[in-house]
Amino acid sequence: MNADFADRQRSAKSEESGKSAKVAGRYDLVIGLEVHAQLRTASKLFCSCPNAFGHDPNRNVCPVCLGHPGALPVLNTRAVDLAVLLGEALGCEIRETSVFARKNYFYPDLPKGYQISQFEHPICVGGAVPLGDGRSVGLVRIHIEEDAGKSKHPEAGDDTESRIDLNRCGVPLVEIVGQPELHSAEDAGLYLSSLKRIVEFLDVCDGNMEEGSLRCDANVSLKPAGAAELGTRTEIKNLNSIRNLERAIRFEADRQAKILDDGGTIDQETRLFDEASGRTRSMRGKEDAHDYRYFPDPDLPPVFVSDDRRTRIAAVMPELPLQRQSRFENSFGLSPDDAAVLTQTRALADYYDAVAESAPDPVAAANWVRTELLGRLSAEGKDITSSPVSPRELTALLKALDDGTLSGKLGKAAVAEMVETGDAFAVVVERNGWKVVSDTGQLAVWVAEAIEKNPSEVASYRAGKTSLLNFFVGQVMKASRGQADPGALRPVIEKALED
Ligand code: ADP
Ligand code: MG
Ligand code: ZN
Repeated sequence: MNADFADRQRSAKSEESGKSAKVAGRYDLVIGLEVHAQLRTASKLFCSCPNAFGHDPNRNVCPVCLGHPGALPVLNTRAVDLAVLLGEALGCEIRETSVFARKNYFYPDLPKGYQISQFEHPICVGGAVPLGDGRSVGLVRIHIEEDAGKSKHPEAGDDTESRIDLNRCGVPLVEIVGQPELHSAEDAGLYLSSLKRIVEFLDVCDGNMEEGSLRCDANVSLKPAGAAELGTRTEIKNLNSIRNLERAIRFEADRQAKILDDGGTIDQETRLFDEASGRTRSMRGKEDAHDYRYFPDPDLPPVFVSDDRRTRIAAVMPELPLQRQSRFENSFGLSPDDAAVLTQTRALADYYDAVAESAPDPVAAANWVRTELLGRLSAEGKDITSSPVSPRELTALLKALDDGTLSGKLGKAAVAEMVETGDAFAVVVERNGWKVVSDTGQLAVWVAEAIEKNPSEVASYRAGKTSLLNFFVGQVMKASRGQADPGALRPVIEKALED
């Protein structure tokens, strides 16, 4: 599974990240993240081209998203609804009126010569991202904008030309701009994984960082420990995983600390993170950036979100990850850790909910889903969305474990086989002839065998080393291929050894 919110929560806790992290004690590290999320609409932001990933290059394009002269954009209202839903979930103020503006710059992947974005009047302001431990990080704003195309540069050895795919031009995005309130790489990772989980639960964005549906830029600065004023920042572009976000921040903090230690100053610039070396390098300075000559797009009227529309959108808000996490703790008695793991994705939480509804013991169910099922799925290169074992079949197994007709050991083997074959629980049990044997006659046969094979252990037991009972239980479990009922087995062994 991908970046794990629960793992991050655990490690953030263990590192006492509530306080400002000091870079070697002399500086406070300050981080603000800008996150772009592709909205899950059927079509693009201003035209009816499909919003889809992985299609043949330059197929999903039209005069509007290619910026042909005279083509007129028409706003996709679904994109606005999704931005409002996200804003409501994060406690933002939703602006009744927001305005699309043109951000002018030249780049080969931007055929129009400008990007339609929101500048002075974004759709959402304020709000916060919860970190899951009571802390939260404020938001500056959320605005809607269109994506640009994608350049593909030659990699060593193959192609010699750069190529451009314009399928992504005009895909709807929200940019979520965080306050500079993060103070460690771990907290930045926690923030991003929390936000990823939220957009995914809301179905606003699929949260897929590898495919670029969720992208993150990190602004990083240092200031003398305890100083009020923020230092000069650099902005690291296009971090494509939570791990790389953390690596880039650590590298950048160290790099800046060295410069400041030597009496130097930080240039405000845009930097790129190189995954292979773990370093950041300068991409462009400040001087050629920030002159976008924004102005309101004359082709688009202001966006109006009435109170009524906002209320209707908020009314269908699904349960958010942290709410679900605490429901799992309170209604099912799960540990905070199990609850965090099982709310990692909405699909996983839905799966567990379906199992817990009719499982005899929701805590045991959590353990089976978390350890056995997820472990087996990942071993087969699958995840919960492609699980061959339905919640119903897993529940059937849990019932058999609970009423003692299946041992834990065989339960594990059953999960493995169900994941591998996709067969129903009953089919797997039938095929293997698995059942728990508690009949003392059969148990006595296995016990006699174990006693005969292990004379020295028998002697030690009889000489007073009664802890060897477990050794004999183990021997019989092995001989019975896990079918012996351990509860019924103990008295049979004790009796046999006393004779
Ligand atoms: P711009 O639009 O030029 O990128 P903003 O002022 O909108 O600049 O800030 C963008 C991001 O940079 C925000 O996420 C903010 O939290 C962060 N940021 C601003 N100043 C600093 C700083 N000194 N150190 C770290 N992050 C910062
Ligand atoms: Mg920026
Ligand atoms: Zn189009």
